[in-house]
Amino acid sequence: MKLTDPDLLREQAYIDGNWCDAISYDTVVICNPANGRPIGKVPVMGAAETEMAIAAAEAALPEWRALSAKARGLKLRRWFELILEHSDDLALLMTTEQGKPLAEAKGEVTYAASFIEWFAEEAKRVYGDVIPGHQDDKRLLVIKQPVGVTAAITPWNFPAAMITRKAGPALAAGCTMLVKPAPQTPFTALALAELADRAGIPPGVFNVITGDAVAIGNEMCSNPLVRKLSFTGSTAVGIKLMAQCAPSMKKLSLELGGNAPFIVFDDADLDAAVEGAMISKYRNAGQTCVCANRIYVQDGVYEAFAQKLAAAVAKLKVGEGIAPGITTGPLINSDALAKVQRHLDDALQKGAKLLAGGKPHALGGNFFEPTILTEVDASMLVAREETFGPLAPLFRFNQVDEVIHQANDTEFGLAAYFYGRDISLIWKVAEALEYGMVGVNTGLISTEVAPFGGIKSSGLGREGSRYGIEEYLEMKYICLSV
Ligand code: ADP
Repeated sequence: MKLTDPDLLREQAYIDGNWCDAISYDTVVICNPANGRPIGKVPVMGAAETEMAIAAAEAALPEWRALSAKARGLKLRRWFELILEHSDDLALLMTTEQGKPLAEAKGEVTYAASFIEWFAEEAKRVYGDVIPGHQDDKRLLVIKQPVGVTAAITPWNFPAAMITRKAGPALAAGCTMLVKPAPQTPFTALALAELADRAGIPPGVFNVITGDAVAIGNEMCSNPLVRKLSFTGSTAVGIKLMAQCAPSMKKLSLELGGNAPFIVFDDADLDAAVEGAMISKYRNAGQTCVCANRIYVQDGVYEAFAQKLAAAVAKLKVGEGIAPGITTGPLINSDALAKVQRHLDDALQKGAKLLAGGKPHALGGNFFEPTILTEVDASMLVAREETFGPLAPLFRFNQVDEVIHQANDTEFGLAAYFYGRDISLIWKVAEALEYGMVGVNTGLISTEVAPFGGIKSSGLGREGSRYGIEEYLEMKYICLSV
């Protein structure tokens, strides 16, 4: 990997403005999922180092909180600019440790930076409220204050954006933060810390710690100095963390698993629906929590849609993300590959038909062929579990109410999509879908200006938009007797 700025490859954790080794000096080697080659090593830290980082975040809090919103916003703005200036290096780091195609990695860097930019601006708009008093001598005020020290645990599928989506609002609100990135993708996180340092974010305000997820997570959840945890990852881990945070009553944001339905009605623009399905299903090799997991196609257009989708899938180019023209990188590891295979085998055994792909890619390793299954039904694993891979299962439906019921028949409620043109149908379906986000005639809904998040087992809270900063603020009511 040839970085223009080699100092962006950091092999130590970033605590209190210093680059640190583990107390034990233990390290772990991180490998490229596309070819298994080592990239570098990072410290294996645990509870003791986490406690130190929390203490640093606590010590940095009074000064950071006391800065004017504009002053904090200017530092964040500088961080945003530096991220963009180094976007080529950040994208290369990301592709090397995560596997996504370079063009997608560049897109993620821009997306990640946009959260810092947005919240740099929002810092100045943390408004309070004045409420007409309930008695002659009373004036009632509401002010918003930062929650304090915050912790973030992030996943590997978006190594930059899942961090900035949390750190942006936290720092803008006047909180300090400690981040534990996913073990697979520490280098993007550490490069972001290097750029935060260069941007003049003071020591202790933003910290990144690598190592033992369980030990670090335990300390983050149990340490009373941490007032909020923001987690993006699986529902199973989210539930554990929520329970661990209960004794110290922490504020929580949880962005968990999804099982997104993608519905194509008879009157849909089929070419647009195929384009949306391609983006929603195959982006990041199917490894996003908002990826279409179940594609429901109405009887009248089922065959036509399937054929058009197969033609689009035939154009995908699988390979190492750094090579030109690649659209589909490797899966993150062999477990991810095994899950796709398990979903595929289960569906085929229960009567689904293979329309495209259907096996590990000839490149070997963690590569899997972009796959389409038809005649999929609710008895199959793919109907209930998130595949998190390049497998598109096509379900057939006839009635609108039937598909709404099927779409909602899941514990998850993150993103849903549908394509149709009848305006009354659009309104009815958009309201009926039990999801935090609904894309209508589009397969791409993520933006820093809109509230991202789910309901049911997909989590709590929203990230991005003007609502995102509220997650890092406490409301204080002041009753003033005059
Ligand atoms: P995935 O299956 O996508 O890796 P996880 O929920 O396992 O999703 O991981 C998301 C993040 O949660 C990662 O940073 C991982 O290290 C972390 N994590 C996993 N298990 C725990 C745990 N018990 N305590 C704290 N963090 C955890």
